[in-house]
Amino acid sequence: MLDLMLPLQCGGCGAPATPWCPECDGTLAVQPDEPHLVTPRLDPGVPVLSLGRYAGPRRKALVAVKEHGRTDLIRPLAHALHDGLEHLLNWGILGCPLTVVPAPTKRSSARKRGGDPVTRIAQLAVARTDVGAGRGPSIAAPGLGVVAALRLKTFTRDSVGLSSADRQRNIAGRVRRIRAVDGPVLLVDDIVTTGATAAESVHVLQTGGAHVVAVLALANA
Ligand SMILES: [Zn+2]
Repeated sequence: MLDLMLPLQCGGCGAPATPWCPECDGTLAVQPDEPHLVTPRLDPGVPVLSLGRYAGPRRKALVAVKEHGRTDLIRPLAHALHDGLEHLLNWGILGCPLTVVPAPTKRSSARKRGGDPVTRIAQLAVARTDVGAGRGPSIAAPGLGVVAALRLKTFTRDSVGLSSADRQRNIAGRVRRIRAVDGPVLLVDDIVTTGATAAESVHVLQTGGAHVVAVLALANA
C-alpha cells in the first residue's frame, strides 16, 4: 500500500524506482566550507547564508515539495539544513540557545500543499534523533528549537514571476508576527531570491524584540 502511494521516480532527476537517488542526494551534500554567504539585492542587515544554488536537483526537490506535495523529499532537504546548521554552530556563527524561525508561507497555499514545508524541514533538521544518523555527529544542542512565528497576511500574491521591485511592494508590511520570539533567532528560508521576504521577516522579528543572528536559505537564486 505504501509502495503504491510513494512516487517511484526520483524527485531530482526522474530516475525510476526511487523517490530520491544517491546522485541527487550527493548534490545536496553540504561541503566543509558551506553554507556560503550570499548578497541578495535587498540587504536584511544580517548575514545571509545559502546551502547552494537554486538549480538542478536542489531546485527540483524544492519545487516538488512546495508545489507537488512531495513530502518524501522533506527529509533529504532537512538533512542538508541539519548539516548547514551544524557547521554554523561549530564555526561559532550561531550559538545556543537559538530559535529557528521559518520564513512565512501563505497560509492557504501551505494548507493546499499539506502543511508548511519550510517549517517541517526546519523541525526535522533540529530533531537530532531523526536526522543525525549517518550524517556526521548529531546536533546535541540544548535550547535549539523551531517556532513558526511569522505568517504572511492574506492577499499577498505568490511572488513567482514578480520583479524585484514588485516583490518588495508585494511583501512590504505583509509579514505578521503571530508568536512572541526573543533572544537569538535564525531565520530559515527555502529560497532567497531578491531578499525581500527575508528582509521584511528580519525587520518584523527585530521589531518584536528578537535578535536575528543570520538568515539561512536552502537555496539562493
Ligand atoms: Zn535523482
